[in-house]
Amino acid sequence: MMWFNKLIASILPHMPKNLVWIFSKRYIAGRTIEDAVRVSKQLNTDGYMVTIDLLGEFITKLEEAEKNRDQYINIIETIQKNGIDGNYSLKPSMFGLLLDEEACYRNIREIVQKAVDYGNFVRIDMEDSQCVDMEIRLFRKLKKEFPKNVGLVLQAYMRRTLDDIKNLSDMHSKDNRLNFRLCKGIYVEPEKIAYKKYEEVNRHYLEDLEYILKTGIYPGIATHDIPLIEGAYRLLKKYNVPKDRYEFPMLYGVAPALRKSIIEKGHRLRVYVPFGEDWFPYSTRRLKENPKVASDIMKAMFVRR
Ligand SMILES: Cc1cc2nc3c(=O)[nH]c(=O)nc-3n(C[C@H](O)[C@H](O)[C@H](O)COP(=O)(O)OP(=O)(O)OC[C@H]3O[C@@H](n4cnc5c(N)ncnc54)[C@H](O)[C@@H]3O)c2cc1C
Repeated sequence: MMWFNKLIASILPHMPKNLVWIFSKRYIAGRTIEDAVRVSKQLNTDGYMVTIDLLGEFITKLEEAEKNRDQYINIIETIQKNGIDGNYSLKPSMFGLLLDEEACYRNIREIVQKAVDYGNFVRIDMEDSQCVDMEIRLFRKLKKEFPKNVGLVLQAYMRRTLDDIKNLSDMHSKDNRLNFRLCKGIYVEPEKIAYKKYEEVNRHYLEDLEYILKTGIYPGIATHDIPLIEGAYRLLKKYNVPKDRYEFPMLYGVAPALRKSIIEKGHRLRVYVPFGEDWFPYSTRRLKENPKVASDIMKAMFVRR
């Protein structure tokens, strides 16, 4: 079935957008901020924290970056006014990272400042390998200025990641802990710089996580992979990590039963809630990872709803 999933995944970008929306909508809160508020309130009621993400990435004109920045600042206002228990995630390429690094920093700085006004927190998502050095630089700069209000994502599939964590440790202290979301990594990267095999990625994930926990860095243990979650439980026990020193982030629409089982064990869990008009690239990445994508798509094409 693997080859069939791959085939379906490769034709997704060429399918009509309305058809792709049918399978995509489970991964997206909706197109508007009202949708994000509604979904987040429900998740809060169900016992989950959230992180809000306005969809969009890899813009081609700097004016778009400014528009996105202003939109994000309004989003923060709305989310805060609605009393949502959540923070913010963003992709730097949406604020001009690949066009003008300095302008991107200034745009994101304004967003972080807005979150800081509410005592809140912004997480910088990690994008593909061309962005890694720049995103680490951006994080360093922001962390210096807002020591308690910014975090970064690191990808266990990158061969460099453990070194990156070690290098960034100069910014870590008991009063101002580093805060990393650790995920496997979603972009297609060459073998020269990234581990490709499932076992290899998982081994490095747990190695990175162990280093993070040993050092007292705050991790977001971002995975839906049961062996990794079980590995994380073992490490949390081994290092006797207090419940408020880590969290399990999971993606909206993925593995809700697993999500529930994690909070039932008393761990804190944060759901990543993406929303917005620019849903296509994010959703197709999610669909490609879904082991059931082929059967879901076949069902949607042939079963009347
Ligand atoms: C909160 C959060 C934030 C993230 N941020 C980033 C980021 O900034 N940069 C980045 O590169 N990556 C990011 N990712 C994506 C991540 O890198 C992985 O690609 C993704 O989480 C799938 O890996 P996995 O650990 O769940 O393991 P996998 O081995 O891919 O999946 C394990 C199991 O989870 C279930 N599953 C996984 N994905 C789906 C899906 N789409 N639909 C249905 N079931 C699914 C399946 O049961 C699968 O067998 C993030 C992930 C999370 C959870």
